[in-house]
Amino acid sequence: MASLVFLEHHEGELQKGSLGALAKAAELEGGDVAAVVLGSGVEELAGRAGRYGAGAVFVADDPAFEKPLPQPRVDALAQLVGEHGFDTILFAASVLSADVAAGLAARLDAGLNWDLVDLVREDGRLVGKRPALGDTVVADVGWTSEPRIALFRSGTFEPKETGGEADVRTFDADLEDFSSAAVMVEQAHEESTGPSIEDADVIVAGGRGLGGPEKFSLVEELAQALGGAVAATRAVVDSGWYPYSAQVGQTGRTVSPKLYVACGISGAIQHKVGMQTSSTIVAINKDPNAPIFDFADLGVVGDLNEIVPKLTELVRARRAG
Ligand SMILES: Cc1cc2nc3c(=O)[nH]c(=O)nc-3n(C[C@H](O)[C@H](O)[C@H](O)COP(=O)(O)OP(=O)(O)OC[C@H]3O[C@@H](n4cnc5c(N)ncnc54)[C@H](O)[C@@H]3O)c2cc1C
Repeated sequence: MASLVFLEHHEGELQKGSLGALAKAAELEGGDVAAVVLGSGVEELAGRAGRYGAGAVFVADDPAFEKPLPQPRVDALAQLVGEHGFDTILFAASVLSADVAAGLAARLDAGLNWDLVDLVREDGRLVGKRPALGDTVVADVGWTSEPRIALFRSGTFEPKETGGEADVRTFDADLEDFSSAAVMVEQAHEESTGPSIEDADVIVAGGRGLGGPEKFSLVEELAQALGGAVAATRAVVDSGWYPYSAQVGQTGRTVSPKLYVACGISGAIQHKVGMQTSSTIVAINKDPNAPIFDFADLGVVGDLNEIVPKLTELVRARRAG
């Protein structure tokens, strides 16, 4: 297996999900793997990938990669696959990576397996693990030809610091004329404070048990005290209490923080699948029979209106001391 990992970056940082995919590739290959960083002014950034298991990092520095558009990236990746014969190309899920992976699959007439939560070697073949039927089963998926393209579910693998150094190899990407046909007219960002929920080590999530949108301040204050991010269930984002970008679950984001504090959340399967890989799950719910207590590491039965402010106070006091 000669794999290539597509490393995404944002605001001068390599994305955690991509570094996790790099760690997985290094584990499968039993050593250093190749990675690619595309952007403008990114050579130094590319070098940092060495610390996370990349032996070689291909870098194309081109203004065409300034905007998060897929086609120029497809050109560059197809070129690397053609020149170096990579048989496996790995991506960590994001809107951009999904577009690039799909475009590359079409360009190379290659098979793409997406939403994978693992990739293993079985009888000498690579087998992807893909949750199905609302994450109640895990299907084995494979490829009938090379190159194989895999897109991992976000938050699936943790980056691993290996302390190595990467051989940074710059290359000129040959861009197709048609790849500049799409231009980005405008890019708008939703205002948010604190870490994104996919990258946060601590998440405090609110559900319908909060009783109304104004009660999200309880969750926000606890999140702020813990230095974490705020998430929500679908029930509350559908009710307009919180933005959709905060939704965790089957039709929202998948998160894997060290600590997930669920406030007034019943623990429906569709929510569980988005947060069950969190290292420690703390649930605060007034119903002792709420399903969330079946998989929480620590459960507090009681009214969140009393418990959450006290918890915030205690955390603040502990931090101040
Ligand atoms: C196809 C499909 C996809 C879905 N995708 C998602 C998804 O991605 N994410 C998602 O979250 N859901 C999803 N859902 C919805 C999911 O089934 C649940 O309806 C939803 O997760 C419930 O949200 P909740 O826990 O906030 O609300 P509820 O289920 O209403 O739970 C509220 C909880 O708050 C507790 N509570 C009430 N008052 C208090 C109080 N004062 N103090 C403490 N506890 C209190 C209650 O005991 C209860 O357990 C999906 C559903 C379908 C059908």
